[in-house]
Amino acid sequence: MDGAGLPQVRSTCPYCGVGCGVLLRPDGAGGLGVEGDPAHPANRGRLCSKGMALGQTVGLEERLLAPRVDGVETGWDTALDLVATRFSETIAKHGPDSVAFYVSGQLLTEDYYVANKLMKGFIGSANIDTNSRLCMASTVAGHRRAFGTDTVPGIYDDLEEADLVVLVGSNMAWCHPVLFRRLAAARAERGTKVVVVDPRRTATCEIADLHLKLRPGTDVALFNGLFAHLREVGALDMRFLLEHTTGFDEAFRAASADQIDATGLAAGDVARFYRMFAATERTVTVFSQGVNQSSTGSDKVNAILNCHLATGRLGQPGQGPFSVTGQPNAMGGREVGGLANMLAAHLDLEDAGHRAAVRSFWSAPAMAESAGLKAVEMFRAVGDGRIKALWIAGTNPAVSMPDADAVRDAIRGCAFTVVSDITARTDTARLADVLLPATGWGEKDGTVTNSDRTISRQRPALPAPGQARHDWAIFAEVGRRMGWAEAFDYRAPAEIFREHAALSKIAGGFGRDFDISGLADLSDAGYEALEPVRWPVSANRTGGRFFGDGRFFTPDGRARLIPVRQAAPATRRSPRYPFRLNTGRTRDQWHTMTRTGLAPRLSRHLAEPFLQIHPSDAETVGLEPAGLARVTSPQGSAILRVLISEDAAIGAPFAPMHWTGETASAGRVDALVAPMTDAVSGQPESKASAVAVTPFEAG
Ligand code: SF4
Repeated sequence: MDGAGLPQVRSTCPYCGVGCGVLLRPDGAGGLGVEGDPAHPANRGRLCSKGMALGQTVGLEERLLAPRVDGVETGWDTALDLVATRFSETIAKHGPDSVAFYVSGQLLTEDYYVANKLMKGFIGSANIDTNSRLCMASTVAGHRRAFGTDTVPGIYDDLEEADLVVLVGSNMAWCHPVLFRRLAAARAERGTKVVVVDPRRTATCEIADLHLKLRPGTDVALFNGLFAHLREVGALDMRFLLEHTTGFDEAFRAASADQIDATGLAAGDVARFYRMFAATERTVTVFSQGVNQSSTGSDKVNAILNCHLATGRLGQPGQGPFSVTGQPNAMGGREVGGLANMLAAHLDLEDAGHRAAVRSFWSAPAMAESAGLKAVEMFRAVGDGRIKALWIAGTNPAVSMPDADAVRDAIRGCAFTVVSDITARTDTARLADVLLPATGWGEKDGTVTNSDRTISRQRPALPAPGQARHDWAIFAEVGRRMGWAEAFDYRAPAEIFREHAALSKIAGGFGRDFDISGLADLSDAGYEALEPVRWPVSANRTGGRFFGDGRFFTPDGRARLIPVRQAAPATRRSPRYPFRLNTGRTRDQWHTMTRTGLAPRLSRHLAEPFLQIHPSDAETVGLEPAGLARVTSPQGSAILRVLISEDAAIGAPFAPMHWTGETASAGRVDALVAPMTDAVSGQPESKASAVAVTPFEAG
């Protein structure tokens, strides 16, 4: 209890995929005290700067408190009837694929479940995609190619049990800070070796024994070279390869054909890394957006997985490839199938047996039969009029999508756009025909899943402000008004969670990884009291690692080594656009700053958008320290403060992706990013856009 006599609430941080537990202390006047939860297995009481500032981000400032139609406040009935009618009419006239939902890794699993069920089972289209497509779709594709399912093999404890941790395309110090502290503590206590693979020197390099500052986009060449080296020095696990994998010969042939020179690394550094990897059984390779956000992201993932499969190093303490997700519930979205190419419960949309099972479970009248439009394709279809009704929930694609100016114009031109969010002030919300007020973190009630498969509760500590409603309730109400009253007759998130858990039993029956059927009979009180629990949770097994037994989720039960070859980024440079723009996060901001922008202490770290550029590049184009640079691509333009630093890669300046605004001077960096995607995953290439950089004189 706190001083005001209000009960303390256990919840989960709404930012990154570490999924830290928080203790919330309402002050009785709309404010919240926030501390780390010592009992949560992800953070054990720790919080980073963003988590600690959560209390500064609640309150009614800039909140959307009532539905609006064409900018005018109205009642829920009017707004919901309009949404249901316009979606129904559009579907009747143009077919189910003329509508789309674009949702968010900020949504809770229960929100995601209802939206996915409505689109895939009742509307009859798979046109539901998510901003998680921008975050980890290449990992999903890589996992599915290698393991048969989108399965994260390891757990966070592996970082503390490893002797070598390789961080690839991961600025963990800023993007997953609490996990970084766990790794740093393990390094201090037990001498864990750390290798960072990143074209840029980041804060993460402070604990690196070796930093491989490779050329942007050459990760496949590095790991293919490692694969060949492991064979050369006899470090392969032949028994594991023979008994539990297929595809070795093709994958090895492809790996051997690549040249390590492509990386631009010094031979001595490469040799040292390869020796460390070959000699260290307890090795974890962590990878994140530097791997995923690429036109060859899926191949990069599989190049890493190949090395772990070839050495049999996965599913054991301190061993394995480990993807860390950017968002708080990217994993929960994957579990319910909230991506355009996935079914629910990690089942396959392209498998008729899986579709029939889900159809039967939902009593679905119009099951989607093929993949829908992935994020970049979806907004292209909005722009050319194929999508005529669009619902965007809890995300700001007019700022965060590649080619953001074109996306903003596409949304503006869409025949009917609904936005459900906590605020009306995002660039996307300003374009909506219908704005629906949603509850936000601190008010929401449901579950999220973090990067190591731990399901945690987000619990409300504050009442819903104004007329705001939970996202699941809004989607369910529209489903009811579209004619599916029984299927969307949910009254509480516990009911949705139980249905989700029961559906996962089907996945278990098909021998799939995602099975939480052990939670299907959870009572309301049990749901309320649910402790963090790592899936699977079934009659057969609970939590732990996958694949230590050598059994995978492919038809023959063997993992697949995938042949991959080094390839240049799809976005081509030219004399006019000679640089490669790398984009990413800063330590104290989150996405487009809808929430973190409210916390003054978070703006003290880096107060404005900037371009970090190598001194030699700055000299070439004539930039002055702390001056302004105009950055231009074929897609758009931004004005950024110049930060000259040897940490930047030569030829590849870096700019953060958080800042927003109507004008280029606000540093709207995703307006520069080319809408090129990975052919397998559909994930955009956010780290290699071809740009020009010139000095900018204000006035
Ligand atoms: Fe939140 Fe991530 Fe920071 Fe943990 S590490 S407090 S989940 S932002």
